[in-house]
Amino acid sequence: MTKLNSLNERIMSTMRILDSHAHLDDDLFDTDRDELFESMAQTGIETAIIPGVSPERWDKQLDIAKRYSCPYGLGIHPWFCEDNPQQALKQLTDKLNRYREDPYLVAIGECGLDKIRKDNWDGQIIALEAQLSMAQQLNLPVILHVVKAHSEMLAILKRYSLPRGGVIHGFYGSLEIASEYIKLGFKLGIGGLILNTSARKLKTCVAQLPLESLLIETDSPAMTPRNAAESRNTPLILQSIIAEIANLHKKSSVLISEHAFRNAVQLFDLKLILI
Ligand SMILES: [Zn+2]
Repeated sequence: MTKLNSLNERIMSTMRILDSHAHLDDDLFDTDRDELFESMAQTGIETAIIPGVSPERWDKQLDIAKRYSCPYGLGIHPWFCEDNPQQALKQLTDKLNRYREDPYLVAIGECGLDKIRKDNWDGQIIALEAQLSMAQQLNLPVILHVVKAHSEMLAILKRYSLPRGGVIHGFYGSLEIASEYIKLGFKLGIGGLILNTSARKLKTCVAQLPLESLLIETDSPAMTPRNAAESRNTPLILQSIIAEIANLHKKSSVLISEHAFRNAVQLFDLKLILI
């Protein structure tokens, strides 16, 4: 082992890391999920929060979350939202009633607004507002997916006061938009996009974000960084994301990972899950 490698290993062993957003229930992980969790453990990644996306996927998601002791969210993603989402919302209410006492259920979501898929826009709004109400009632944070719809999302969030706030996952936007979310009690999830040299706007924003507002995530298996060796994204790129944020803030990776870890534990109340 080279000196640098052993130094890196020592630094990594002092960092506590979790992926605040990874779809590890995805079929793309079916062939080597055990090995992936093993590699995560070896590189100091303690766990991943698995967000819910649609009624058809919840049972497998819950099964994987249970098998690997992962915290999870339950929700309807805007891509999987029908024009009339009432039936899916009823199924979500039933699932939440069944799992509301489970300490591993840590959020509602992911839900949100995505203008790239605007054919179901009305359904997206109905599903989002219903899920924000559920988060209020159950006193849970929300995991939000927001693509090209920040002004619409901010207007809706201002009408709901969410006791536990939430996260704008895979955040891509300006510092002004980030500040609006922070004022409403939200954190910003920073993912693999920050590793792309062309993501200048995001880098400028992240460099100025208060460290108390930052979460790190991969959105695996999606959002693979451009020059990655594998087309499937995995939580194993978290250290690179931390290193890039450290570089932008001119701080150490240990400090950035400490903040991101603490922020996730506070937001999702993971104290009892992570020892
Ligand atoms: Zn996602």
